[in-house]
Amino acid sequence: MQLNLNDIIGIPGASKPFEFSLALPAPTACIMCGPALISGYVYNIAGALELRGEIQATMTCACDRCMASFTMKKTQPVTAYLAEILSNEANPDIFLLENGSVDLDEVFTTAFLLDMESKIVCDEDCAGLCITCGANLNDGSCACKLDVDPRLAALQQLLDTDNAASSNAKEVSVWRFQRVRYQDRDETNGAAPIGSWTRPTSLSVPSATHIACPIGLAELAVPTRTEK
Ligand SMILES: [Zn+2]
Ligand SMILES: [Zn+2]
Repeated sequence: MQLNLNDIIGIPGASKPFEFSLALPAPTACIMCGPALISGYVYNIAGALELRGEIQATMTCACDRCMASFTMKKTQPVTAYLAEILSNEANPDIFLLENGSVDLDEVFTTAFLLDMESKIVCDEDCAGLCITCGANLNDGSCACKLDVDPRLAALQQLLDTDNAASSNAKEVSVWRFQRVRYQDRDETNGAAPIGSWTRPTSLSVPSATHIACPIGLAELAVPTRTEK
């Protein structure tokens, strides 16, 4: 929508309202974005034009941890400055007027996309998917977890720490897969590995010794039987 501001450009203290519906593009982390309600005012403050508005959008997103689709409402305040001549092109908050009009679609679409998170979760406490069977752990724990002898509780805790990385479980499993995949190539040929050997610092994966430790003991983790 084009908003003509010729009637307030020369009048300090004047303002002009706007309200319209805008089809916004779905951000990368979302599947779909419904039409957004855009509203606000352009103010002439001592000769400078300032836009203050708001975006009310409803999006359909897929959770980055459990993949479930969910609806997300977002209200985003937007401030922008409008000018007839652009003296500082590096400032992304300044938009150029054309014949006294501002392109509000451009102002709000730019603000919306720049503000969007690259990863979206259905809930901050989302438990994600089991890295072994793929079950959605928000629906309850899966069968992958065995009851262990109380004497081995410490070992179980160690394994739980491993599983607790559910928020980045997908990335962790990819990282481990790459290690296994390229290990042979690296050790036998001395060639540089294709995949990444360095654990990404963002991942909370247990250390190498942490992973190696339970393997020998795992055979002892016999499920306990409840006598009836
Ligand atoms: Zn989720
Ligand atoms: Zn499982």
